[in-house]
Amino acid sequence: MGPDKVLYIVATPIGNLADMVPRAIEVLQCADLVAAEDTRHSQRLLSHFDIDTPLVAYHDHSGGRRSEQLLERLERGQTLALISDAGTPLISDPGYRLVREARARGVKVIPVPGACAFVAALSAAGLPCDRFTFEGFLPSRPTARQVALQALAREERTLVFYEAPHRVSDTLRAMAEAFGADREAVIARELTKAFETIHLAPLGELADWVAADSDQQRGEIVLLVRGAEPRREEELSGEAERVMALLLGELPPRRAAALTAEITGASKKALYNWSLTQK
Ligand code: SAM
Repeated sequence: MGPDKVLYIVATPIGNLADMVPRAIEVLQCADLVAAEDTRHSQRLLSHFDIDTPLVAYHDHSGGRRSEQLLERLERGQTLALISDAGTPLISDPGYRLVREARARGVKVIPVPGACAFVAALSAAGLPCDRFTFEGFLPSRPTARQVALQALAREERTLVFYEAPHRVSDTLRAMAEAFGADREAVIARELTKAFETIHLAPLGELADWVAADSDQQRGEIVLLVRGAEPRREEELSGEAERVMALLLGELPPRRAAALTAEITGASKKALYNWSLTQK
């Protein structure tokens, strides 16, 4: 079972029990204690796999006392496993405080990877996933949500959100407003379950599609939005480049850019950036 003082962070399925990985079953069976978000919910999972390890509730907000009890057990050499209701613990789920404190006390923290809703959504959405930003849940209040979306409007990486079903329609409208109705987006709903739906459309159309069908406002949802188009560096005219090149022979780049901008009307910043490419 590995060395003493081990905290395993164990991913569990996000809907389809067949996604439980064999190593997760083995670790949960061999641990002295399983810490879970909701013990009644997790008891069903453990029973399904014939795991009879005792369960204890853990939340980041359950205060220092519960963490302290778990840490004491770890320090006594017990092996603990942390799970959440579904997917990977700590990903929009409890565990951060426990992991941080355990590591600080020399406990070995070992991940047992498995399902994670946003990774599954990204892998099947058809949006770029070489670079992305996971934003978790947006604020629930409309004004705060709009502020958060505005701050992301120029983000060039694919944006990934978790959203509650009763808010998804309003959120898609708010996204269409903040990012533009033409920006591509995907709703990934009920992944790995019977009514799994992955639908890609421009934000305006996607908002209409979801609003028109109450079935699309049920279950568990990941929203993904294509990143903003990169801003194109302002193109310089041949004349602007000729004047700039002449002045660069006589003046420092910033001064040359300022004068060329005045003479030709081109952007000072673009001229300066161009000068950097001329060395
Ligand atoms: N730790 C989990 C993970 O690894 O994905 C996420 C926990 S978070 C509290 C729950 C949210 O994850 C849901 O509201 C939904 O946005 C997303 N989610 C979980 N299961 C999902 C599924 N089967 N399909 C789509 N989204 C899911």
